[in-house]
Amino acid sequence: MDFSLNEHQEMVRDMVRSFAEDRIRPGAGERDVSGEFPFDIIREMGELGLLGMMVPEAYGGADMDVLSYLLAVEELARVDASVAVTMSVTNSVCCWPILTFGTEKQKERYLRPLASGEVIGGFMLTEPSAGSDAASLTTRFRQEDDRYVLNGSKAWITNAGVGRYFVCLATEDPSKRAHGISAFILDAEQPGVIVSRPEEKMGLRSSKTSMVTLEGAEVPLDAMLGERGQGFKIALATLDHSRLGIAAQAIGIAQAALEESVRYARDRRQFGRPLIEHQAIAFRLAEMDTELTAARQLLHHAAWAAGRPGRHSRESARAKLYASEMVNRLVAWAVQIHGGYGFSREYTVERLYREARVTTIYEGTSEVQKMVIARALTTEVT
Ligand SMILES: Cc1cc2nc3c(=O)[nH]c(=O)nc-3n(C[C@H](O)[C@H](O)[C@H](O)COP(=O)(O)OP(=O)(O)OC[C@H]3O[C@@H](n4cnc5c(N)ncnc54)[C@H](O)[C@@H]3O)c2cc1C
Repeated sequence: MDFSLNEHQEMVRDMVRSFAEDRIRPGAGERDVSGEFPFDIIREMGELGLLGMMVPEAYGGADMDVLSYLLAVEELARVDASVAVTMSVTNSVCCWPILTFGTEKQKERYLRPLASGEVIGGFMLTEPSAGSDAASLTTRFRQEDDRYVLNGSKAWITNAGVGRYFVCLATEDPSKRAHGISAFILDAEQPGVIVSRPEEKMGLRSSKTSMVTLEGAEVPLDAMLGERGQGFKIALATLDHSRLGIAAQAIGIAQAALEESVRYARDRRQFGRPLIEHQAIAFRLAEMDTELTAARQLLHHAAWAAGRPGRHSRESARAKLYASEMVNRLVAWAVQIHGGYGFSREYTVERLYREARVTTIYEGTSEVQKMVIARALTTEVT
């Protein structure tokens, strides 16, 4: 079994690492305070091919494999998780379902501007009363002549207000639950799409997340994604894929927490020697390194599964569950190693602590990942 990255994957990782260090790190702390969205950086990332990483060249993308994409997410999150989530949402919950379920015309029309960074993408599934139980969504669609008309509210929509194309889920009859749901490619630049003020979030403060109200939002008939009534299946398959990106985000934050902790433990002296020479601290660092590596291996295994035919729900759920719980343990330890300074905004670990928190929540909470894994066990074990 060969665990090494190929030459191309190493090149992608190194390129993204140096871009993140040069262009993203300098303003990351300031943007965390101001909440300013980094339009320039996102545009440059589009030019580098980071917004349509798995989109074929024929539609203007970088045509890379899943693992290259995950390495890029990890490198971005290591420096600024807000930038990482903007990028991963565009790639995984917008480009990916259009690429996988879209018609030739849809791919040609929507993927090119998304992949180039000309426009940003997103995904509208969650509603104020439909979170983990996504099949209970109530945003309605109806057909009117040459278009569909959508009405309802979508909650917690990443990239709302800064993005243009969103894969949006709506139902023709809420009593049909999953069977009534269809997927649409919604152009948010229209009067029927009303974006509320961005949420004041604990972390990821320069990524934008808002409530979106759809009041007669129009979608052309040829912008339904997949077949009528297949929307929920599309959403679940999309989440199988996108959860890999959240795991990579968690791993990037954890990597940063470990690096910051090792540096601090080497520099800070107490009781006459560096912290790292106190065994309790050195052992903690060793545990952090081990947990981080376990999460990364689980993710790379899930990426391998994602590159094979068929569903990879369980592999993605495991990787997301473990990586997101792992990063929350690591950032708490990182703050502890920093002592009082870890509680100060002057130290990066304070931001990492806040950035990590959401990873066990979005794109399916840890409890939802456990449901996916347990369901697979129920059918597997005879
Ligand atoms: C920053 C951010 C960005 C987001 N971006 C997007 C986006 O771009 N698009 C989008 O569609 N959504 C987005 N979301 C929404 C996110 O996916 C939901 O918050 C998530 O799915 C959980 O739903 P909820 O918040 O309604 O929690 P709820 O479903 O109300 O759950 C509350 C708690 O109860 C637990 N719970 C629920 N049901 C069960 C059960 N049966 N058994 C055990 N425990 C259970 C949950 O695990 C959780 O701990 C985002 C959220 C955040 C915070």
